Amino acid sequence: MRVVFRAGAARTAVAAEAEHLGLRRVLVLSGPRGADTARAVADSLGAANAGVHTEAAEHVPVPVAEAAAEAALKADADGCAAVGGGSAIGLGKAVALRLGLPLIAVPTTYAGSEMTPVWGLTEDGVKRTGRDPVVLPRSVVYDPELTLSMPPALSGTSGVNAIAHAVEALYAPDASPIVSLMAEEGTRALAAALPEIAADPGGLDARGRALYGAWLCGACLGATTMSLHHKLCHVLGGTFGLPHAATHTIVLPHVLAFNAPAAPDAVAALRRALGTDDPALELYRLGGRLGAPRSLAELGLSAAGIDRAVETAAAVPYANPRDAGPDDLRAILRAAFEGRPPG
Ligand code: NAD
Repeated sequence: MRVVFRAGAARTAVAAEAEHLGLRRVLVLSGPRGADTARAVADSLGAANAGVHTEAAEHVPVPVAEAAAEAALKADADGCAAVGGGSAIGLGKAVALRLGLPLIAVPTTYAGSEMTPVWGLTEDGVKRTGRDPVVLPRSVVYDPELTLSMPPALSGTSGVNAIAHAVEALYAPDASPIVSLMAEEGTRALAAALPEIAADPGGLDARGRALYGAWLCGACLGATTMSLHHKLCHVLGGTFGLPHAATHTIVLPHVLAFNAPAAPDAVAALRRALGTDDPALELYRLGGRLGAPRSLAELGLSAAGIDRAVETAAAVPYANPRDAGPDDLRAILRAAFEGRPPG
């Protein structure tokens, strides 16, 4: 994978990457809110501009993926550029999965999808994910300027979403010393930059450091198998439509507090990265400092939803450093539902 990382890169580097990949007709994908940026990127492509399709939606509903593939066929595209957060990049991956078109990713959040061969599609309230090398972006263009417009609340929760990838990479069954270094450094960079961004959302230096952290954490996500935390958030997003980044921010401290006794090396790395004895509590406090929602109830989950989420999560096996039965899942979700401190 090629990576370009610099302020202002979206204005010129997407065209250069398209040329490098030999693409002649690039369809630019985004969500409705990213349409202006998508159009600017499309304009920068010159003769390789095959139009824009601005219909990305969270968790990539199957009809949305089908419409985008249709648009790519109609535009006679030989590649796509996805401009936006995980939803827009997820749409680009869905088109790659269906049509095999190479993808250039231009991330505008810290979600990290651009670094992974993981696709996700949601149908009838169930989110399916899988791995396929065809969806891994061929080029990634990181431009911190594109993240300046992220509202403060999304900046904070998206950053903690990235940290969640690092946390689960540290105790993954396929963890490795190199990925753990990346996870520790990514967590350190984000935990330092996010409060600075909350205080000064227009600060390009902190934005750049957060995006660097997101790159590292996204690479950890792509390189390892995620565990209970991602499983629960996946169910809460796919089945209940809860917002991705905020859900991660609320759930992470509770899963980490549960897993901590079974993951001493991960806890040691997080202690170093976060400068604290209690990483789970520190992540809970970080969410508070960033003004993130505190509870799943605030996001709209009903108390009755907890049992359904436990059932759905327990139905398919997943990795985790500590055995977690239905009662454990219920206790974790109950604490996250109420928004109390972890542990
Ligand atoms: P998102 O892409 O849904 O974006 C959230 C909202 O913020 C959208 O309305 C979007 O238009 C807006 N937005 C994005 N960037 C902005 C910016 N710079 N300025 C202003 N507004 C902006 O949210 P997300 O958290 O980035 O991604 C979540 C989705 O990505 C989920 O579906 C998740 O499952 C998926 N995801 C997949 C992977 C993977 O490896 N496959 C990894 C991470 C996330």
